[in-house]
Amino acid sequence: MNSKTSKHDHNDCIDSAMEMAESLCEKKGLRFTKIRRRVLELVWNNHQAIKAYDILEMLQKEHVSAKPPTAYRALDFLLEHGFIHRIESLNAYIGCPHPQHLHSFQLLICNQCGLVKEMDKPDLSTKLDNYAKEYEFSLVSQVVELHGLCKKCA
Ligand SMILES: [Zn+2]
Ligand SMILES: [Zn+2]
Ligand SMILES: [Zn+2]
Repeated sequence: MNSKTSKHDHNDCIDSAMEMAESLCEKKGLRFTKIRRRVLELVWNNHQAIKAYDILEMLQKEHVSAKPPTAYRALDFLLEHGFIHRIESLNAYIGCPHPQHLHSFQLLICNQCGLVKEMDKPDLSTKLDNYAKEYEFSLVSQVVELHGLCKKCA
């Protein structure tokens, strides 16, 4: 597992994501099945956005019988419990580094290599909430996806 995104030991990222997911599932009484675990590992393969189709393809290489619903159900589970985020503009997924608390987030997406960084700027979320209120609108969700180039690609 080699991360092309930056100089860090990506195994550490994977390890901590898996450990966190495991302990959170235990705490919440959720079943962290083999397939859910494997799908999370695949999402964490690197820091690039990954599509459901690619996950399915990798699964099928491992378990010949993996059918689309298997992958989608596992992704739904991981999404629902905050272990991964969905990138609407790419119809893809990224692992969340801090699933232990509910949070709003903004995504920085590299158009060249697909690197995705999660920005956690609560003041920005609050601002958007307040701005929306000026328009007599109460937000239930925020999707902030910012496209550009990462340091490597710029
Ligand atoms: Zn990493
Ligand atoms: Zn997150
Ligand atoms: Zn890039």
